[in-house]
Amino acid sequence: MFNVLDIRKDFPILSRKVNGKSLVYFDNAATSQTPQQVIDTIVDYYSNYNANIHRGVHTLSQEATDLYEQARHKIQAHFNAKFSHEIILTSGTTHSINLVANGFSSLLKKGDEIIVSALEHHSNIVPWQMLCERTGGILKVIPMNEDGELVMSDFDNLLSENTKLVFVNHISNALGTINPIEYIIEKAHQVGAAVLIDGAQACPHIKPDVQALDVDFYVASAHKMCGPTGVGMLYGKETWLKKLPPYQGGGEMIAEVTFEKTTYADLPHKFEAGTPNIAGGIVFGTAIDYMNSIGFDAIATYENDLLDYATEKLLAIDGLKIYGTSKNKTSVISFNLENIHPYDVGTILDKLGIAVRTGHHCAQPIMDFYKIPGTVRASFSFYNTKEEIDILVEGVRKAKMMLS
Ligand code: PLP
Repeated sequence: MFNVLDIRKDFPILSRKVNGKSLVYFDNAATSQTPQQVIDTIVDYYSNYNANIHRGVHTLSQEATDLYEQARHKIQAHFNAKFSHEIILTSGTTHSINLVANGFSSLLKKGDEIIVSALEHHSNIVPWQMLCERTGGILKVIPMNEDGELVMSDFDNLLSENTKLVFVNHISNALGTINPIEYIIEKAHQVGAAVLIDGAQACPHIKPDVQALDVDFYVASAHKMCGPTGVGMLYGKETWLKKLPPYQGGGEMIAEVTFEKTTYADLPHKFEAGTPNIAGGIVFGTAIDYMNSIGFDAIATYENDLLDYATEKLLAIDGLKIYGTSKNKTSVISFNLENIHPYDVGTILDKLGIAVRTGHHCAQPIMDFYKIPGTVRASFSFYNTKEEIDILVEGVRKAKMMLS
């Protein structure tokens, strides 16, 4: 049974004070908080089996290797990948996207087209622009509408036999819109294009099934799903991962090295050069176990209720405008108060112990579309409560009074 008060006991940080007030943490889309179970696994790693992996014959190294590979299997099971070697452990979504974009340097030719969406985080824009600079590829953009949704009829028109790759986020970090990725994947495949889905914002709310989606690449960061920073994953279909060249060279990713020629290791190690974030990888597995123990259906139901409640309460404030009004969205509310800079609102909320994000949220094209410098973004997780939303609403009212 989902009981938010019990769940909150798992998160020590939620009982701390900020500026003399109880912390209200609504910056979950930037990074989620960490349950004790995850913290304990980090402590356990450094207390009991800290060693380098895949190298040593000694016991600690074997234990660390086993746990690291177990985590890979947990991630494989969670995302329903066919093979564990289709899961590459990376430092996060940004690293995963750069790995694929770099790989496409040798596959994209001058004049080939790749398609991005207007709703992307900068980390799913810039690596592709760099790819186009290297290869002469052409970047096309699926536009968005006023509700913060992608215009699918325009997407249909952008597709052609020149399209080689489409990369779209599953959920927009700035607005919370859930994109129609099933449709995008199907249509892209019809013209022979590969699809990369940036799942950084989806994985805290949804359990994606990469085989059911038939997606070519899916990427995520552990720190948005109750795990540590500096670790994430790239799922790639085996056929694609075999086709792509390695991203970085170094230890671990080789089969044999001579000065004449080096051969590369099999998957997944071909893409895992150097000593990885070993504790992070192991703990990513613990974070996935933790979220599954709560259950993604329960999480979605609870968070949707928080979203509805907060939307109604915030809209009751005169002069408050919400950006991203799709019916198909997750628990993110981006808003502004009329004639008040979002940064000023965020600063006052911080004085009240309320953590929200202000600014462009690494999604400047979205802010340009709305012709605003940024928004205040409150993003809710399954450990937040309606009482906390009441505190936010009161805080926004106070900020409006002080700044008007
Ligand atoms: N993509 C989206 C949609 C995001 O929200 C974020 C982070 O906010 C990223 C990519 C980048 O993730 P990371 O900084 O963990 O690499």
